[in-house]
Amino acid sequence: MSTASSGTRRPMFRVRRSKVHGLGVFALRRIRKGTRIVEYLGDRVSHREADRRYEQKTTDDNHTFLFIVDRGIVIDAGVNGNDARFINHGCDPNCESVTEDRRVFVEALRTIQPGEELKYDYSIGRAKDDPPDVDVVFACHCSAEQCRGTMLWPAKRPKPRKSGRRRQRVRK
Ligand SMILES: [Zn+2]
Repeated sequence: MSTASSGTRRPMFRVRRSKVHGLGVFALRRIRKGTRIVEYLGDRVSHREADRRYEQKTTDDNHTFLFIVDRGIVIDAGVNGNDARFINHGCDPNCESVTEDRRVFVEALRTIQPGEELKYDYSIGRAKDDPPDVDVVFACHCSAEQCRGTMLWPAKRPKPRKSGRRRQRVRK
């Protein structure tokens, strides 16, 4: 696997300010569809440990760096994370997250042009005890034509995906 900075080729992306949310990750050169762009790295912890780490955070701070690998493991990119944690959510994304051997990679869903911001669908699941304003807390401003207005899965989705970005509990 080649990384963003391997060899003599220009790096594939860089991190800078984004209009969507805080920092974002932008392509520096053309990235072909299917390219494995970056691995989502960070501390690998249990769900219980992730809860413990973030239970003190306020409810309006939804910018966590947690990624669910499976029922046993969460990657906390807030600790030892790499640039992958700055890739923003998008409702019409040009990337996707792929879980393989309990590792998470971001791959190009289509060919990406230089200057484009990399985005993937965070696939944040819903929970029975979500407060009514959960979609406001996780509002999406990605400006895609198909923007669903939330980083959460649509309410009627029958089976939430097992992996995806995770939020800390939203409490009121
Ligand atoms: Zn959106």
